[in-house]
Amino acid sequence: MTVSELQLPPVRPDAPASADALRQSVAGARVTVVGGARSGLAVARLLARRGADVFLTDAAPADSGVADGLAKDGVASEFGGHTARALDADWLVLSPGVPSTAPLVQSALRQKRPVYAEIEVASWFCPGPIVAVTGSNGKTTTTSLIGHVFETAGRKHVVAGNIGFPFSDYVDDLDAETAVVLEVSSFQLDHVVTFRPAVSVLLNVTPDHLDRYDHDFGRYAAAKFRVFENQQPGDWLVYSQDDEVVRERVHSWAAERGLTPVGFSTEREPSPGAFARGGRIVLALPAHGAPGAPIPEEDLMPTSDLALTGRHNLYNSLASAIVARAMEIRSDVVRESLTSFEGVPHRLETVRTVGGVRYVNDSKATNVNAVWYALESFPATDGPDVVLIAGGRDKGNDYEPLRRLAEDKLKGIVAIGEGAQAIEDDLGPHVPRVARAASMEEAIQYASLMAESGDTVLLSPACSSFDMFDDYEDRGDTFKRLVRAL
Ligand code: ADP
Repeated sequence: MTVSELQLPPVRPDAPASADALRQSVAGARVTVVGGARSGLAVARLLARRGADVFLTDAAPADSGVADGLAKDGVASEFGGHTARALDADWLVLSPGVPSTAPLVQSALRQKRPVYAEIEVASWFCPGPIVAVTGSNGKTTTTSLIGHVFETAGRKHVVAGNIGFPFSDYVDDLDAETAVVLEVSSFQLDHVVTFRPAVSVLLNVTPDHLDRYDHDFGRYAAAKFRVFENQQPGDWLVYSQDDEVVRERVHSWAAERGLTPVGFSTEREPSPGAFARGGRIVLALPAHGAPGAPIPEEDLMPTSDLALTGRHNLYNSLASAIVARAMEIRSDVVRESLTSFEGVPHRLETVRTVGGVRYVNDSKATNVNAVWYALESFPATDGPDVVLIAGGRDKGNDYEPLRRLAEDKLKGIVAIGEGAQAIEDDLGPHVPRVARAASMEEAIQYASLMAESGDTVLLSPACSSFDMFDDYEDRGDTFKRLVRAL
Protein backbone atom coordinates (compact mmCIF):
# COMPACT_ATOMS: atom_id res chain seq x y z
CA MET A 1 0.00 0.00 0.00
CA THR A 2 1.42 3.43 -0.85
CA VAL A 3 1.15 6.53 1.29
CA SER A 4 -1.45 8.06 -0.98
CA GLU A 5 -3.71 5.00 -0.72
CA LEU A 6 -3.35 4.65 3.03
CA GLN A 7 -6.30 6.04 4.97
CA LEU A 8 -5.11 8.11 7.89
CA PRO A 9 -7.38 8.60 10.86
CA PRO A 10 -8.59 12.21 10.64
CA VAL A 11 -6.81 14.53 13.05
CA ARG A 12 -10.10 15.89 14.33
CA PRO A 13 -12.88 13.60 13.13
CA ASP A 14 -16.32 15.04 12.50
CA ALA A 15 -17.76 12.85 15.26
CA PRO A 16 -19.07 14.62 18.38
CA ALA A 17 -16.03 16.12 20.04
CA SER A 18 -16.99 15.76 23.68
CA ALA A 19 -16.49 12.73 25.84
CA ASP A 20 -19.92 13.31 27.42
CA ALA A 21 -21.66 13.22 24.04
CA LEU A 22 -19.78 10.11 23.04
CA ARG A 23 -20.57 8.38 26.33
CA GLN A 24 -24.23 9.19 25.91
CA SER A 25 -24.20 7.77 22.40
CA VAL A 26 -23.10 4.33 23.60
CA ALA A 27 -26.46 2.91 24.72
CA GLY A 28 -28.18 1.46 21.65
CA ALA A 29 -25.18 2.00 19.33
CA ARG A 30 -24.07 -0.78 17.00
CA VAL A 31 -20.37 -1.21 17.67
CA THR A 32 -17.72 -3.49 16.20
CA VAL A 33 -14.67 -4.23 18.29
CA VAL A 34 -11.71 -5.26 16.15
CA GLY A 35 -9.28 -7.61 17.87
CA GLY A 36 -10.03 -10.22 20.51
CA ALA A 37 -6.95 -9.92 22.73
CA ARG A 38 -7.27 -8.69 26.28
CA SER A 39 -8.05 -5.02 25.62
CA GLY A 40 -10.52 -5.89 22.85
CA LEU A 41 -12.37 -8.35 25.08
CA ALA A 42 -12.41 -5.83 27.94
CA VAL A 43 -13.79 -2.96 25.89
CA ALA A 44 -16.40 -5.22 24.25
CA ARG A 45 -17.68 -6.24 27.67
CA LEU A 46 -17.60 -2.64 28.93
CA LEU A 47 -19.67 -1.44 25.96
CA ALA A 48 -22.14 -4.33 26.34
CA ARG A 49 -22.60 -3.44 30.01
CA ARG A 50 -23.34 0.13 28.91
CA GLY A 51 -26.10 -0.95 26.54
CA ALA A 52 -24.36 -1.09 23.16
CA ASP A 53 -25.03 -3.81 20.61
CA VAL A 54 -21.50 -5.19 20.38
CA PHE A 55 -19.91 -7.42 17.76
CA LEU A 56 -16.30 -8.54 18.16
CA THR A 57 -14.29 -9.63 15.14
CA ASP A 58 -10.80 -11.11 14.98
CA ALA A 59 -8.80 -12.32 11.98
CA ALA A 60 -7.18 -15.03 14.09
CA PRO A 61 -8.88 -18.15 15.49
CA ALA A 62 -10.07 -17.98 19.10
CA ASP A 63 -8.83 -19.94 22.07
CA SER A 64 -11.48 -22.39 23.16
CA GLY A 65 -14.31 -20.98 25.22
CA VAL A 66 -13.67 -17.32 24.31
CA ALA A 67 -16.69 -16.92 22.00
CA ASP A 68 -18.99 -18.67 24.52
CA GLY A 69 -17.72 -16.46 27.31
CA LEU A 70 -18.40 -13.36 25.22
CA ALA A 71 -21.88 -14.58 24.31
CA LYS A 72 -22.70 -14.96 28.01
CA ASP A 73 -21.72 -11.32 28.46
CA GLY A 74 -23.95 -10.29 25.58
CA VAL A 75 -21.24 -9.88 22.93
CA ALA A 76 -21.65 -11.57 19.55
CA SER A 77 -18.35 -12.52 17.90
CA GLU A 78 -16.52 -14.06 14.96
CA PHE A 79 -12.98 -15.40 14.89
CA GLY A 80 -10.68 -16.56 12.11
CA GLY A 81 -11.69 -13.83 9.64
CA HIS A 82 -13.95 -10.83 9.10
CA THR A 83 -17.39 -11.07 7.45
CA ALA A 84 -19.52 -8.20 6.12
CA ARG A 85 -21.14 -7.94 9.56
CA ALA A 86 -17.90 -6.41 10.85
CA LEU A 87 -18.47 -3.18 8.91
CA ASP A 88 -22.19 -3.04 9.66
CA ALA A 89 -21.71 -0.74 12.64
CA ASP A 90 -22.12 2.87 13.74
CA TRP A 91 -18.50 2.91 14.83
CA LEU A 92 -15.55 0.65 15.52
CA VAL A 93 -13.16 0.20 18.42
CA LEU A 94 -9.63 -1.10 17.95
CA SER A 95 -7.80 -3.34 20.31
CA PRO A 96 -4.28 -1.87 20.59
CA GLY A 97 -2.69 -4.81 18.79
CA VAL A 98 -4.55 -4.03 15.56
CA PRO A 99 -2.72 -1.56 13.31
CA SER A 100 -4.52 1.23 11.46
CA THR A 101 -3.18 -0.36 8.28
CA ALA A 102 -5.30 -3.53 8.74
CA PRO A 103 -7.61 -3.87 5.70
CA LEU A 104 -10.77 -3.87 7.81
CA VAL A 105 -9.76 -0.64 9.53
CA GLN A 106 -8.84 0.89 6.19
CA SER A 107 -12.27 0.01 4.81
CA ALA A 108 -13.99 1.56 7.84
CA LEU A 109 -11.99 4.76 7.48
CA ARG A 110 -12.73 4.92 3.76
CA GLN A 111 -16.43 4.63 4.61
CA LYS A 112 -15.94 7.52 7.08
CA ARG A 113 -16.98 5.37 10.02
CA PRO A 114 -15.49 6.59 13.29
CA VAL A 115 -12.76 4.32 14.64
CA TYR A 116 -11.83 4.71 18.30
CA ALA A 117 -9.01 3.37 20.42
CA GLU A 118 -9.80 1.23 23.42
CA ILE A 119 -8.38 3.91 25.75
CA GLU A 120 -10.55 6.55 24.08
CA VAL A 121 -13.70 4.55 24.88
CA ALA A 122 -12.60 3.68 28.41
CA SER A 123 -11.79 7.34 29.10
CA TRP A 124 -15.44 8.33 28.43
CA PHE A 125 -16.36 6.40 31.58
CA CYS A 126 -13.41 7.34 33.78
CA PRO A 127 -14.31 9.68 36.66
CA GLY A 128 -10.76 10.21 37.98
CA PRO A 129 -7.59 11.86 36.69
CA ILE A 130 -5.58 10.06 34.01
CA VAL A 131 -1.78 10.10 33.92
CA ALA A 132 -0.87 8.95 30.41
CA VAL A 133 2.72 7.91 29.67
CA THR A 134 3.95 7.52 26.12
CA GLY A 135 7.16 7.60 24.09
CA SER A 136 9.20 5.21 21.98
CA ASN A 137 11.16 3.86 24.95
CA GLY A 138 10.74 3.91 28.70
CA LYS A 139 6.96 3.68 28.89
CA THR A 140 6.76 0.56 31.04
CA THR A 141 9.63 1.62 33.29
CA THR A 142 8.18 5.10 33.86
CA THR A 143 4.59 3.91 34.26
CA SER A 144 5.73 1.36 36.86
CA LEU A 145 7.88 3.93 38.62
CA ILE A 146 4.97 6.39 38.83
CA GLY A 147 2.80 3.53 40.14
CA HIS A 148 5.45 2.86 42.78
CA VAL A 149 5.51 6.54 43.79
CA PHE A 150 1.71 6.57 44.13
CA GLU A 151 1.82 3.31 46.09
CA THR A 152 4.48 4.67 48.46
CA ALA A 153 2.42 7.84 48.91
CA GLY A 154 -0.70 5.80 49.72
CA ARG A 155 -2.46 7.52 46.82
CA LYS A 156 -5.47 5.68 45.36
CA HIS A 157 -4.51 4.57 41.85
CA VAL A 158 -4.48 1.79 39.28
CA VAL A 159 -1.74 1.04 36.76
CA ALA A 160 -3.24 0.02 33.43
CA GLY A 161 -2.93 0.02 29.67
CA ASN A 162 -0.15 -1.75 27.78
CA ILE A 163 1.09 -2.84 31.17
CA GLY A 164 -1.05 -5.01 33.45
CA PHE A 165 -4.77 -4.96 32.82
CA PRO A 166 -6.62 -3.03 30.12
CA PHE A 167 -8.05 0.36 31.11
CA SER A 168 -11.56 -0.89 30.18
CA ASP A 169 -11.35 -3.54 32.89
CA TYR A 170 -11.12 -0.91 35.58
CA VAL A 171 -13.38 1.96 34.70
CA ASP A 172 -16.54 0.62 36.33
CA ASP A 173 -14.79 0.44 39.70
CA LEU A 174 -13.10 3.84 39.71
CA ASP A 175 -14.03 6.96 41.61
CA ALA A 176 -13.07 10.60 41.16
CA GLU A 177 -10.16 10.27 43.62
CA THR A 178 -8.51 7.29 41.98
CA ALA A 179 -5.80 8.16 39.47
CA VAL A 180 -5.27 5.93 36.45
CA VAL A 181 -1.62 5.59 35.49
CA LEU A 182 -1.80 4.50 31.90
CA GLU A 183 0.91 3.19 29.61
CA VAL A 184 -0.14 4.26 26.15
CA SER A 185 1.25 3.03 22.82
CA SER A 186 1.25 5.03 19.63
CA PHE A 187 -1.20 2.53 18.12
CA GLN A 188 -3.74 3.51 20.78
CA LEU A 189 -3.09 7.18 20.17
CA ASP A 190 -3.82 6.79 16.46
CA HIS A 191 -7.48 6.67 17.34
CA VAL A 192 -8.08 9.01 20.23
CA VAL A 193 -10.55 11.84 19.76
CA THR A 194 -11.42 13.28 23.17
CA PHE A 195 -8.89 11.44 25.36
CA ARG A 196 -7.63 14.08 27.78
CA PRO A 197 -5.16 13.13 30.48
CA ALA A 198 -4.80 15.43 33.49
CA VAL A 199 -1.08 14.68 33.18
CA SER A 200 0.56 13.56 29.94
CA VAL A 201 4.14 12.36 29.78
CA LEU A 202 6.00 12.28 26.47
CA LEU A 203 9.37 10.61 27.05
CA ASN A 204 10.94 10.60 23.57
CA VAL A 205 10.12 9.91 19.95
CA THR A 206 12.61 7.82 17.99
CA PRO A 207 12.05 5.52 15.02
CA ASP A 208 10.23 2.31 15.98
CA HIS A 209 7.32 0.35 14.56
CA LEU A 210 7.71 2.26 11.32
CA ASP A 211 6.39 -0.81 9.52
CA ARG A 212 3.00 0.12 10.99
CA TYR A 213 3.22 3.73 9.82
CA ASP A 214 4.07 3.10 6.19
CA HIS A 215 7.73 3.87 7.07
CA ASP A 216 6.77 7.48 7.72
CA PHE A 217 8.44 8.88 10.87
CA GLY A 218 6.26 12.00 10.75
CA ARG A 219 3.10 9.90 11.00
CA TYR A 220 4.47 7.88 13.89
CA ALA A 221 5.54 11.03 15.74
CA ALA A 222 2.14 12.63 15.07
CA ALA A 223 0.45 9.70 16.80
CA LYS A 224 2.60 10.20 19.90
CA PHE A 225 1.71 13.90 20.01
CA ARG A 226 -1.94 13.06 20.29
CA VAL A 227 -1.34 12.20 23.92
CA PHE A 228 -1.52 15.91 24.76
CA GLU A 229 -3.58 17.36 21.94
CA ASN A 230 -6.82 17.51 23.92
CA GLN A 231 -5.22 18.97 27.02
CA GLN A 232 -6.34 22.36 28.32
CA PRO A 233 -4.67 25.05 30.41
CA GLY A 234 -4.39 23.65 33.93
CA ASP A 235 -3.49 20.14 32.71
CA TRP A 236 0.14 19.04 32.98
CA LEU A 237 2.18 18.32 29.87
CA VAL A 238 5.44 16.69 30.91
CA TYR A 239 7.98 16.29 28.11
CA SER A 240 11.61 15.69 27.25
CA GLN A 241 13.39 18.97 26.55
CA ASP A 242 16.37 17.03 25.21
CA ASP A 243 14.45 15.33 22.42
CA GLU A 244 14.43 17.81 19.58
CA VAL A 245 11.39 16.38 17.82
CA VAL A 246 9.40 16.43 21.05
CA ARG A 247 10.64 19.85 22.17
CA GLU A 248 9.77 21.63 18.94
CA ARG A 249 6.30 20.17 18.67
CA VAL A 250 5.43 20.69 22.33
CA HIS A 251 6.63 24.29 22.33
CA SER A 252 4.69 25.31 19.25
CA TRP A 253 1.54 23.46 20.29
CA ALA A 254 1.59 24.71 23.89
CA ALA A 255 2.15 28.30 22.78
CA GLU A 256 -0.88 28.01 20.49
CA ARG A 257 -3.05 26.64 23.30
CA GLY A 258 -1.87 28.80 26.20
CA LEU A 259 -0.58 25.79 28.13
CA THR A 260 2.68 25.82 30.11
CA PRO A 261 4.50 22.56 29.44
CA VAL A 262 6.89 21.17 32.05
CA GLY A 263 10.18 19.88 30.66
CA PHE A 264 12.77 17.48 32.01
CA SER A 265 16.36 17.58 30.88
CA THR A 266 19.89 16.44 31.60
CA GLU A 267 21.33 19.13 29.32
CA ARG A 268 19.43 22.30 30.21
CA GLU A 269 17.61 23.76 33.18
CA PRO A 270 13.96 24.16 32.15
CA SER A 271 11.68 26.22 34.35
CA PRO A 272 9.10 25.01 34.97
CA GLY A 273 10.83 21.67 34.87
CA ALA A 274 13.09 19.09 36.46
CA PHE A 275 16.78 18.68 35.73
CA ALA A 276 20.16 17.49 36.98
CA ARG A 277 22.66 20.04 38.26
CA GLY A 278 25.98 19.13 39.82
CA GLY A 279 24.90 15.54 40.49
CA ARG A 280 21.63 16.53 42.12
CA ILE A 281 18.02 16.55 40.93
CA VAL A 282 16.47 19.99 40.98
CA LEU A 283 12.74 20.64 40.65
CA ALA A 284 11.56 24.01 39.41
CA LEU A 285 7.81 23.64 39.63
CA PRO A 286 4.99 26.09 40.19
CA ALA A 287 3.63 26.06 43.73
CA HIS A 288 0.12 24.63 43.86
CA GLY A 289 -2.55 27.25 44.18
CA ALA A 290 -0.15 30.07 43.28
CA PRO A 291 -0.46 30.62 39.55
CA GLY A 292 1.76 33.38 38.22
CA ALA A 293 4.01 33.39 41.30
CA PRO A 294 7.79 33.08 40.70
CA ILE A 295 8.82 29.46 40.30
CA PRO A 296 10.87 28.23 43.27
CA GLU A 297 13.75 25.77 42.88
CA GLU A 298 13.91 22.74 45.11
CA ASP A 299 16.93 20.48 45.59
CA LEU A 300 15.25 17.05 45.59
CA MET A 301 18.04 14.50 45.97
CA PRO A 302 21.45 13.35 44.67
CA THR A 303 21.21 11.47 41.36
CA SER A 304 23.43 8.78 42.91
CA ASP A 305 20.54 7.81 45.22
CA LEU A 306 18.25 6.91 42.31
CA ALA A 307 17.36 3.22 42.22
CA LEU A 308 17.51 3.13 38.41
CA THR A 309 20.85 3.81 36.74
CA GLY A 310 21.82 5.16 33.32
CA ARG A 311 20.93 8.42 31.60
CA HIS A 312 17.69 7.00 30.18
CA ASN A 313 16.55 6.14 33.67
CA LEU A 314 17.49 9.59 34.90
CA TYR A 315 14.97 10.87 32.36
CA ASN A 316 12.39 8.38 33.58
CA SER A 317 13.02 9.42 37.19
CA LEU A 318 12.82 13.16 36.40
CA ALA A 319 9.54 12.64 34.55
CA SER A 320 8.14 10.61 37.45
CA ALA A 321 9.17 13.26 39.97
CA ILE A 322 7.27 15.91 38.01
CA VAL A 323 4.18 13.70 37.84
CA ALA A 324 4.37 13.09 41.57
CA ARG A 325 4.47 16.81 42.27
CA ALA A 326 1.66 17.43 39.78
CA MET A 327 -0.39 15.07 41.94
CA GLU A 328 0.74 16.91 45.07
CA ILE A 329 2.83 14.10 46.50
CA ARG A 330 5.33 15.29 49.08
CA SER A 331 9.04 15.51 48.25
CA ASP A 332 10.14 13.13 51.00
CA VAL A 333 7.83 10.48 49.55
CA VAL A 334 9.13 11.15 46.04
CA ARG A 335 12.69 10.80 47.29
CA GLU A 336 11.95 7.60 49.13
CA SER A 337 10.16 6.01 46.18
CA LEU A 338 12.75 6.97 43.56
CA THR A 339 15.34 5.36 45.83
CA SER A 340 13.46 2.15 46.58
CA PHE A 341 12.05 1.20 43.15
CA GLU A 342 13.11 -2.30 42.20
CA GLY A 343 12.88 -1.98 38.41
CA VAL A 344 11.02 -3.97 35.80
CA PRO A 345 12.07 -7.40 34.47
CA HIS A 346 13.80 -7.57 31.06
CA ARG A 347 15.00 -3.93 31.26
CA LEU A 348 18.70 -3.91 32.16
CA GLU A 349 17.98 -6.63 34.70
CA THR A 350 21.04 -8.14 36.34
CA VAL A 351 20.59 -11.91 36.34
CA ARG A 352 23.71 -13.07 38.21
CA THR A 353 27.48 -12.85 38.28
CA VAL A 354 29.44 -15.98 37.33
CA GLY A 355 33.24 -16.06 37.55
CA GLY A 356 33.25 -12.27 37.94
CA VAL A 357 31.18 -11.79 34.76
CA ARG A 358 27.85 -10.01 35.22
CA TYR A 359 24.97 -11.17 33.00
CA VAL A 360 22.35 -8.53 32.19
CA ASN A 361 18.99 -9.18 30.54
CA ASP A 362 17.74 -6.24 28.45
CA SER A 363 15.53 -8.35 26.19
CA LYS A 364 12.98 -5.52 26.01
CA ALA A 365 15.49 -3.47 24.00
CA THR A 366 13.75 -4.16 20.71
CA ASN A 367 15.08 -1.11 18.88
CA VAL A 368 18.43 0.61 18.32
CA ASN A 369 17.68 3.55 20.59
CA ALA A 370 17.09 1.30 23.62
CA VAL A 371 20.43 -0.44 22.97
CA TRP A 372 22.12 2.95 22.69
CA TYR A 373 20.94 3.86 26.20
CA ALA A 374 21.83 0.42 27.53
CA LEU A 375 25.42 0.73 26.27
CA GLU A 376 25.62 4.30 27.42
CA SER A 377 24.75 3.24 30.95
CA PHE A 378 27.95 1.14 31.24
CA PRO A 379 30.87 3.31 32.38
CA ALA A 380 33.65 1.29 30.62
CA THR A 381 36.21 3.34 32.57
CA ASP A 382 39.01 0.82 31.97
CA GLY A 383 38.28 0.24 28.29
CA PRO A 384 35.74 -1.95 26.55
CA ASP A 385 34.22 -4.47 28.98
CA VAL A 386 30.84 -5.45 27.54
CA VAL A 387 30.02 -8.42 25.32
CA LEU A 388 26.77 -7.72 23.52
CA ILE A 389 24.34 -10.39 22.39
CA ALA A 390 22.13 -8.78 19.73
CA GLY A 391 19.90 -9.68 16.81
CA GLY A 392 16.54 -11.21 16.10
CA ARG A 393 13.90 -9.98 13.69
CA ASP A 394 15.27 -6.77 12.24
CA LYS A 395 12.62 -4.06 11.72
CA GLY A 396 14.73 -2.21 9.14
CA ASN A 397 17.31 -1.07 11.70
CA ASP A 398 20.07 1.43 11.09
CA TYR A 399 22.92 0.46 13.45
CA GLU A 400 25.06 3.47 12.61
CA PRO A 401 24.14 5.34 15.85
CA LEU A 402 25.69 2.46 17.85
CA ARG A 403 29.12 2.56 16.21
CA ARG A 404 30.86 4.97 18.55
CA LEU A 405 29.53 3.24 21.65
CA ALA A 406 30.51 -0.13 20.15
CA GLU A 407 34.08 1.11 19.70
CA ASP A 408 34.26 2.52 23.23
CA LYS A 409 32.50 -0.19 25.19
CA LEU A 410 32.32 -3.51 23.38
CA LYS A 411 34.76 -6.35 23.69
CA GLY A 412 32.72 -8.42 21.32
CA ILE A 413 29.38 -9.06 19.70
CA VAL A 414 27.50 -12.32 19.41
CA ALA A 415 24.91 -11.95 16.66
CA ILE A 416 21.75 -14.05 16.60
CA GLY A 417 18.63 -14.51 14.50
CA GLU A 418 17.55 -13.06 11.18
CA GLY A 419 19.28 -9.72 11.85
CA ALA A 420 22.69 -11.32 12.51
CA GLN A 421 24.23 -10.49 9.15
CA ALA A 422 23.25 -6.81 9.28
CA ILE A 423 24.70 -6.47 12.77
CA GLU A 424 27.94 -8.17 11.72
CA ASP A 425 28.20 -5.94 8.65
CA ASP A 426 27.41 -2.66 10.43
CA LEU A 427 29.08 -3.14 13.81
CA GLY A 428 31.56 -5.99 13.25
CA PRO A 429 34.35 -3.74 11.92
CA HIS A 430 34.11 -1.60 15.08
CA VAL A 431 34.63 -4.31 17.73
CA PRO A 432 37.54 -6.69 18.41
CA ARG A 433 35.56 -9.94 18.14
CA VAL A 434 32.38 -11.11 16.45
CA ALA A 435 30.65 -14.47 16.53
CA ARG A 436 27.41 -15.81 15.09
CA ALA A 437 25.25 -18.11 17.23
CA ALA A 438 22.38 -20.33 16.16
CA SER A 439 20.61 -20.37 19.54
CA MET A 440 20.55 -18.46 22.80
CA GLU A 441 22.45 -21.29 24.44
CA GLU A 442 25.24 -21.01 21.89
CA ALA A 443 25.19 -17.20 22.18
CA ILE A 444 25.75 -17.37 25.92
CA GLN A 445 28.57 -19.88 25.42
CA TYR A 446 30.38 -17.63 22.93
CA ALA A 447 29.78 -14.54 25.05
CA SER A 448 31.14 -16.30 28.16
CA LEU A 449 34.28 -17.21 26.23
CA MET A 450 34.81 -13.59 25.14
CA ALA A 451 34.19 -12.13 28.62
CA GLU A 452 36.71 -11.98 31.45
CA SER A 453 36.24 -11.32 35.14
CA GLY A 454 34.94 -7.77 35.62
CA ASP A 455 33.15 -7.75 32.24
CA THR A 456 29.43 -7.76 31.48
CA VAL A 457 27.52 -9.98 29.08
CA LEU A 458 24.55 -7.93 27.91
CA LEU A 459 21.54 -9.27 26.03
CA SER A 460 20.20 -6.11 24.35
CA PRO A 461 19.00 -7.28 20.96
CA ALA A 462 17.84 -4.13 19.05
CA CYS A 463 15.40 -6.44 17.28
CA SER A 464 12.11 -8.12 17.99
CA SER A 465 12.17 -11.73 19.11
CA PHE A 466 9.61 -13.42 16.89
CA ASP A 467 12.10 -15.25 14.66
CA MET A 468 13.30 -17.40 17.59
CA PHE A 469 10.93 -16.84 20.53
CA ASP A 470 7.26 -16.25 21.39
CA ASP A 471 7.99 -12.70 22.53
CA TYR A 472 10.64 -10.60 24.29
CA GLU A 473 9.65 -12.09 27.64
CA ASP A 474 10.22 -15.62 26.37
CA ARG A 475 13.60 -14.47 25.00
CA GLY A 476 14.58 -12.84 28.30
CA ASP A 477 13.32 -15.79 30.36
CA THR A 478 15.31 -18.20 28.17
CA PHE A 479 18.43 -16.07 28.67
CA LYS A 480 17.87 -15.99 32.44
CA ARG A 481 17.24 -19.74 32.67
CA LEU A 482 20.41 -20.53 30.72
CA VAL A 483 22.50 -18.03 32.70
CA ARG A 484 21.24 -19.46 35.99
CA ALA A 485 22.34 -22.91 34.79
CA LEU A 486 25.92 -21.80 34.00
P1 ADP B 1 8.64 0.67 26.51
O1 ADP B 1 7.54 0.25 27.41
O2 ADP B 1 8.45 2.05 25.95
O3 ADP B 1 9.02 -0.33 25.46
P2 ADP B 1 10.54 -0.03 28.59
O4 ADP B 1 10.48 0.68 29.88
O5 ADP B 1 9.94 -1.39 28.50
O6 ADP B 1 9.93 0.88 27.44
O7 ADP B 1 12.06 -0.11 28.12
C1 ADP B 1 12.37 -0.61 26.83
C2 ADP B 1 13.84 -0.53 26.57
O8 ADP B 1 14.23 0.83 26.48
C3 ADP B 1 14.71 -1.15 27.66
O9 ADP B 1 15.80 -1.73 27.00
C4 ADP B 1 15.12 0.04 28.51
O10 ADP B 1 16.37 -0.18 29.15
C5 ADP B 1 15.19 1.18 27.48
N1 ADP B 1 14.74 2.47 28.04
C6 ADP B 1 14.05 2.68 29.18
N2 ADP B 1 13.80 4.00 29.34
C7 ADP B 1 14.32 4.63 28.27
C8 ADP B 1 14.38 6.02 27.86
N3 ADP B 1 13.84 7.00 28.58
N4 ADP B 1 15.02 6.29 26.70
C9 ADP B 1 15.57 5.31 25.96
N5 ADP B 1 15.57 4.00 26.30
C10 ADP B 1 14.94 3.66 27.44
